[in-house]
Amino acid sequence: MKKAPDILTLEEIKKEDIPSVGGKGASLGEMFSIGLPVPRAFVVTAQAFRRFLGETGTEERLFSGLANLNVDENAALEEASRKARELVLSVPIPPHLQKKIKDAYRALGNDPVVAVRSSATAEDLPDASFAGQQETFLNIQGNGDLLQAVQRCWASLYGARAIYYRSKQGFDDRSVNIAVVVQILVRSEKAGVMFTSHPVTGEPLTIIEGSWGLGEAVVSGSVSPDKYVYDHRSGRVVDRLIAQKLEMIVPDGRKGTKVVKIGPDQEKAPVLSDAEVKQLATFGKIAEDHYGIPQDLEWAVTGKEIFILQSRPITTIKSAAKGKPAAAGAAGTGKVLVEGQGASPGIGSGKVAIVRDIKDAGRVQEGDILVAKMTNPDMVPAMRKVAAIVTDEGGMTCHAAIVSRELGTPAVVGTKKATSVLRPGQLVTVDGEKGLVYEGKAGPAPAKEKAVATVVAGAPLITATSVKVNVSLPEAAVRAAATGADGVGLLRIEHLILGLNKTPMWYIRNGKEEEFITELATGIRVVLDAFPGKPVWVRTLDAPTDEFRNMAGGEDEPHEHNPMLGWRGIRRDLQAADQFRLQVEAFKRLWQAGYANLGMMFPMVSHPDEFILAKKMMAGWGVDVENVTLGIMVEIPASAILIEDFIKAGIRFASFGTNDLIQYTIAVDRNNENVACMYRPKHPAVLKIIDDTIRVCRRYGVECSICGQAGSDPEMAEWLVEHGISSLSANIDAVAKIRDRVARTEQRMILEAARSIHAREGV
Ligand code: PEP
Ligand code: MG
Repeated sequence: MKKAPDILTLEEIKKEDIPSVGGKGASLGEMFSIGLPVPRAFVVTAQAFRRFLGETGTEERLFSGLANLNVDENAALEEASRKARELVLSVPIPPHLQKKIKDAYRALGNDPVVAVRSSATAEDLPDASFAGQQETFLNIQGNGDLLQAVQRCWASLYGARAIYYRSKQGFDDRSVNIAVVVQILVRSEKAGVMFTSHPVTGEPLTIIEGSWGLGEAVVSGSVSPDKYVYDHRSGRVVDRLIAQKLEMIVPDGRKGTKVVKIGPDQEKAPVLSDAEVKQLATFGKIAEDHYGIPQDLEWAVTGKEIFILQSRPITTIKSAAKGKPAAAGAAGTGKVLVEGQGASPGIGSGKVAIVRDIKDAGRVQEGDILVAKMTNPDMVPAMRKVAAIVTDEGGMTCHAAIVSRELGTPAVVGTKKATSVLRPGQLVTVDGEKGLVYEGKAGPAPAKEKAVATVVAGAPLITATSVKVNVSLPEAAVRAAATGADGVGLLRIEHLILGLNKTPMWYIRNGKEEEFITELATGIRVVLDAFPGKPVWVRTLDAPTDEFRNMAGGEDEPHEHNPMLGWRGIRRDLQAADQFRLQVEAFKRLWQAGYANLGMMFPMVSHPDEFILAKKMMAGWGVDVENVTLGIMVEIPASAILIEDFIKAGIRFASFGTNDLIQYTIAVDRNNENVACMYRPKHPAVLKIIDDTIRVCRRYGVECSICGQAGSDPEMAEWLVEHGISSLSANIDAVAKIRDRVARTEQRMILEAARSIHAREGV
């Protein structure tokens, strides 16, 4: 390691100093050098730490205690970690280094309050993603507490989790160092994080999350923050979601922090004005342009002053980058263990956790690879934590595929044998684009992150054909809205209901109808609030009986030979009127609350009489059926054939559910991997049905849309636009590319029309 000073001030730090100051310290120095408002700071360098170890004779004792440690033995790991931390804490910092730290501290001001943050670094691989494994101490004041906090940051390099992680990543403990950033603590009134570009699509949309108090509340996820979306193309705040903010983190007296309740006047008040959003987004763009890659920033505001506290590259765009050769980073050792369908793009590495039932799901750890026969709604909490998902069964429209796309988690489905071939604890890499699972961990990803951002940056904002988005989990609503979609073309409520883990009948039998209605209305409202003024089509329940069986109340579900053709969708609601009534009540309350943009969509409709009866029942429950938006899914060929009769019965819209329409047209089970190769969205019979239906809808001026998976395929989108579809609804990850393809297709069609007029007129 080169000879470097013990202390570097912000003014002195350059990006080449990462080995001395870590990624965090280097980024602060960089931001300071380009004029961003960074609170004053200095760094106790990694070399200072190593000299501390050397001069105090601690080094050999420390590293010999960690040598030959089997990190898979939990007790041994904990013991080694405890000893190492105690050792680092027990040795006094040499006086000359103490003096330098105290001098640098004094240079920051008169006994200032500071934040003391770890900034880990490795000799060969600077800032090797050790984020979150070392500690931060906020609200530190005075020499004594400062020196102690620095030493505690050093000791945190030997936390059990950090030792384990390094060992699994193949890092020698001796090669890993730690710098400590000491920075003036901004006593922020409000603070949060921002993504300088859209984290999934790479569009030039800055997404800002903020809440009251210190930013830790937002960073740690302990509050639901406000969300603001700023579009750099139009220079406007295009979306805002004001959350109910219940708590904030504030400095606690002379040391540490505490959580306090937020008063009623601030609870629902917006954290940021439009001017502040714009200013923050501008700072974010400066950082992004400087680094040449979208950034994830932390910010804080006190009075009229805005500060940028941290900046690091967004990693999700990297994983969302399409068409990247696996060899360029995803391939682990290169040996493919299993193959399936790439159902949710991105690359994830981690340890295999096989989930056979809900007990296993409870044991899944953050960053694992969840491997299951098929996922089900019980597993959603575990699915939120993992780095990737792999299933034996299923196709592009199965539960695992839909949920993982919405969570932005890479997924491979339909591998047939992942649960038998992969071993628990085995390190693997999942390529959700190509549908491959490799042995080992991916190497460092190639620096190609801008690809997606530049592809979509020029996409036109407005298309004549609306491009909407599909949502299944209310928690994905803000991500969905941040795509700039023209509304929600399908909100599947069954994920919300199945997530409650009790069947609707359970609520009815146990006298808890009100609870069910409230849960449903609340979940739907989250999505409506994310799309103010834009149409949101919410589909009534469409869960096959087998999905209900494991839930409380599911004991009475009938065993059906073929649940896909069974008691689901509108046919069940019309027979089980109580179940339908509860759903209708939730919709009714939302319409009465003024959500005129809410539309209701009926699934699995096969005859206009079903639609007529549904309307009649709703009218009986007090819904003004002629003045609300009601429509149907076209997913059974019968409903396509009879579309004119449906229009005459009063539907306001029809939406192709191609996932089912394809299986019912060509008799191929959509979830059966054995016939997956026969599942052809562009089968001529399917295209003919769609074409005929669009024509009839156009004739009557009824909106005709698509919300099945085929609407997320650019080629299919092009075909649909050419054939006159009024809107498309795509998965969150596909909205940008679909909008791009729709715009190009529309422009090509206009150009071709103009050319043929010119040719006809002989111009
Ligand atoms: C469809 O069938 O295309 C559809 C969107 O519904 P689901 O996938 O929920 O059956
Ligand atoms: Mg369907």
